[in-house]
Amino acid sequence: MDVRRRLLKYVLVYKARLFAAVLCSLISAACVRALGVVINWFATVASGKDVLNLPPVEIGLRYGIFEPPHAKTALILIVAFLAVLVHVPKALFSYANNYLTASVTNRIGADVRRAVYDHLQTLPLSFFHRNKTGDIIARITYDVGLITNASQVVTQAIDAPVLIVVGLAGLFAISWKLAALTLIFVPLMGMLIDRLSKKIRRLTTDTQEKLAELNTVVEESIRGIRVVKAFSMEQHEMTRFARVNAEALRAALRAARRAAAVIPTVEFMGGLSGAMLLLFAGLMVVNGEIRIGKLFEFTYLAFIVASAGKQFGKINVLYQQTMAGAERIFHLLDAKSDLVEKPDAIELRDVRGHVEFREVHFQYSDGEPILRGVSFKIEPGEVIALVGPSGAGKSTVADLIPRFYDPTSGQVLVEGCDVRDVKIASLRAHIGIVPQETILFSGTIAENIAYGRPGADLLDIIEAAKAANAHDFIQAMPNGYDTRLGEGGSGLSGGEKQRIAIARALLKNPRILILDEATSSLDAASEVVVQEALERLMRGRTTLVIAHRLSTVTSADRIMVMDRGQILEVGSFNELLASGGLFARMYKIQFRAEEVL
Ligand code: ATP
Repeated sequence: MDVRRRLLKYVLVYKARLFAAVLCSLISAACVRALGVVINWFATVASGKDVLNLPPVEIGLRYGIFEPPHAKTALILIVAFLAVLVHVPKALFSYANNYLTASVTNRIGADVRRAVYDHLQTLPLSFFHRNKTGDIIARITYDVGLITNASQVVTQAIDAPVLIVVGLAGLFAISWKLAALTLIFVPLMGMLIDRLSKKIRRLTTDTQEKLAELNTVVEESIRGIRVVKAFSMEQHEMTRFARVNAEALRAALRAARRAAAVIPTVEFMGGLSGAMLLLFAGLMVVNGEIRIGKLFEFTYLAFIVASAGKQFGKINVLYQQTMAGAERIFHLLDAKSDLVEKPDAIELRDVRGHVEFREVHFQYSDGEPILRGVSFKIEPGEVIALVGPSGAGKSTVADLIPRFYDPTSGQVLVEGCDVRDVKIASLRAHIGIVPQETILFSGTIAENIAYGRPGADLLDIIEAAKAANAHDFIQAMPNGYDTRLGEGGSGLSGGEKQRIAIARALLKNPRILILDEATSSLDAASEVVVQEALERLMRGRTTLVIAHRLSTVTSADRIMVMDRGQILEVGSFNELLASGGLFARMYKIQFRAEEVL
């Protein structure tokens, strides 16, 4: 992975702005050069030697400004005015340069964030199981933050050399001997900067990884705050955070120690070279080899070159940090979806609700076989209950229908088409899922109901809510359908959230429904209302219900009993009870447990 080339692609989108920034920086550099000349004049006027050859004197004489006894004062004023005059364009172009750089910086940041987010949306479920949420969020925030330095690196990397070249040309023009002496330390300085900044990239990666870990701790403890509080684990969480926080701090300080050493090294070398300059320049002035004005101009330009050199050191640090961030970002962007849509995938239309599994075997990438030769057919409009002990593979069967995963072998067919041959969006358009835990997004209730059908008519939304037994409680809320929900639908009861999820599925109007024991966490009263809504939702649709409580599946057309990745029994409730198999045994155990309760 050529990180530099890939990053440059993002930077070059803004080449026009960058070019303008460089132009501004060139004009600023020209002003700096002009300022050197003005300083020369100042020193010459102040020392009172060789004044007559100065351009300001020519100006003064032409316009008759020099009237004794104020001639010298007038000359100083003219030079001061020229100094101010040079500063005006310098300030303006420096402003334009700074703004253009910042604008490019922020635009690149936004582009990269967008690319990462868009890519995340295309990744399969398995990616999100493999990677921690905190780490993903850290990449989109901290690492993109580092990448935004990229444009700064680019502009400064042009800015600094411009100043160095302009400054050096001035230095050599004034006195090549002094210039050569001043530069004696430069190669040594370059070597030192290189050595110091080499380790910065790895240290920055360490810091970013620690920050990602920190994010994970925060994300987990906030998501699981109820558990934290219920088990009185606040102190434990604080200690966990403090440990990772201290590690992150140590990593950041290690990187900072390196980065901090770069500038003083450059400055120290600059100081040595300044001392050399003073020594030899002093001797040259004494010997009359150089005028005092020229010496001032030389010193000023040497200062500018030294500052630009210092900037170079900073750029190197910034560059290494940018590369560390870019590496982590590109790593994420390179995560491939293992669920690729075929180029000739067909649009799935006219679905009646036929689902079939043919000898399906499945295992997660890192694990044991989870499904072992599962075969069944569900006819349009049929309600099938899938039951079995925990870990039997029920949810996995349900996840294969909308192609959240692909089988390791065998086929999953919807309406007679292998799901790998159809366009994923067209397949999922026909499938509605009511999960165990309802996910609501920040936004209004109406927007949440219309999640699968953005722009749906309010009347349709209300109709869906009515059928889901949700209309009454929604209307009783302060802003009805426009009530904004808190994070994750806070402020709603479990049953209310479920009914919104049912309304959402009703509005989508899919032919195939997957219900993951939607009522298991509700009390008896809410369960009745939700169950009624579910029955309305299932009417006329192919439905797969994953059920934990066997008493809830009496009305299913057929019940499939799974254990350890295989379907062991199929039949109606009464048939299965009568056969005395696994279902009958599970039912007896549950029935007894419910009686005890
Ligand atoms: P439950 O009734 O407890 O929800 P289930 O019958 O729905 O269980 P599945 O969720 O399908 O069972 O899980 C079947 C097996 O697959 C389990 O052993 C589980 O540990 C494993 N499993 C589930 N999801 C993953 C995953 N993303 N990666 C690896 N293994 C997984």
